[in-house]
Amino acid sequence: MTSIATELLQPAGNLPPGFASLSQGVFHASTILFPDVASFLDRQAQAGSGYSYGQNGTPTHYALADKLAQLEGGGQTVLVPSGLAAVTLVSSCVLSAGDHVLLPAAVYGPTLDVTRTLFGKWGVRCSVYGDEAGADFARLFEPRTRLVWTEAPASNTLEMQDVPAIAAAARAHGALVAMDNTWATPLGFRPLDHGVDFSIQALTKYVGGHSDLLMGAVTTRDPQRYQALRDTAELLGYYVSSDECFLALRGLPTLALRLERHFASALKIARALEGHPALASLHYPPLASDPGHALWQRDFKSGSGLLSFTLRRRGLAAVEALVAALRLFPLGNSWGAVHSLVAVAPLRAPRDGWLVRLHVGLEDADDLLQDLLQALTALPSPP
Ligand SMILES: *Cc1c(COP(=O)(O)O)cnc(C)c1O
Repeated sequence: MTSIATELLQPAGNLPPGFASLSQGVFHASTILFPDVASFLDRQAQAGSGYSYGQNGTPTHYALADKLAQLEGGGQTVLVPSGLAAVTLVSSCVLSAGDHVLLPAAVYGPTLDVTRTLFGKWGVRCSVYGDEAGADFARLFEPRTRLVWTEAPASNTLEMQDVPAIAAAARAHGALVAMDNTWATPLGFRPLDHGVDFSIQALTKYVGGHSDLLMGAVTTRDPQRYQALRDTAELLGYYVSSDECFLALRGLPTLALRLERHFASALKIARALEGHPALASLHYPPLASDPGHALWQRDFKSGSGLLSFTLRRRGLAAVEALVAALRLFPLGNSWGAVHSLVAVAPLRAPRDGWLVRLHVGLEDADDLLQDLLQALTALPSPP
């Protein structure tokens, strides 16, 4: 069998017979026609498996969904309008009033916000767990715990979790597990091979890879859960356009190559920044000194370009000075695309202060490192 890096280069095969192009077909449709009244009246039964209305997908949508399922190591994929919509789709599908959800304390902020506010309003309760909760995970469950979220490493502070142990505890309790796997992508970690029920990705990040697309994906290997996700997405009116699917398909052939470079450059930069006198902490699980390194080493095949640190000089002024001094890291949200970026986030207690997050892009790694070192050196030294 060829490797997934090779498979991602194979055309998605959604072209009319005889048109053997290497590029994908882009089909636009709202209306799909039916040959007779019987099949028209039966269209609901066909939703989710075939073509019944544009919202249920065109050949472009199915081409992308099939490729993503292959990337996840098997299963079926539902496409949604953003990474956050992938989170809300899983929760909307699985949770009912009275249910309880567990989330990692370091989870992507909007995932916690939507669980607390919207799902809270609808009668769902949630608790957060810390990264210390490995072996002791079983005690966190309540009788109505239905869903456990994982996100490793977390996308700001890069804390790791013991995903296989959490999945085993959830299984024993009868709860489902969802993982936000945006950081590693399935090329670095395949959640569904480690007991996770729903693998989600913000395709906005590495799959898109060019800062011009918003999309999310949920993949599961359980056909009934796939159908339930499809039904829920239809009820919510979650739809992605064929043009956006084309952009995501276009990202796939270079995904493995891009990630290899993001990872190699980020590791080089992290190693060079380790022990830098201006830094108070550095967060990147592929570094041997990172508290999550052993879990990363055990479970992950590779890493990616996102890392973060805090400065010894506390306070916003030092962070502002650093960002202003950087020339190759423009300030902006999102990550996973070809360009390097810097972002800044307030840390919650007990470690309050400011976190600086870097996305290491495809620029020359030595140029990036020189830029970081000159910006750090220009900072006034800690009091
Ligand atoms: C960006 C991000 C999301 C949300 O993706 P959007 O497409 O921006 O909604 C979800 N999870 C993680 C870890 C992310 O970094």
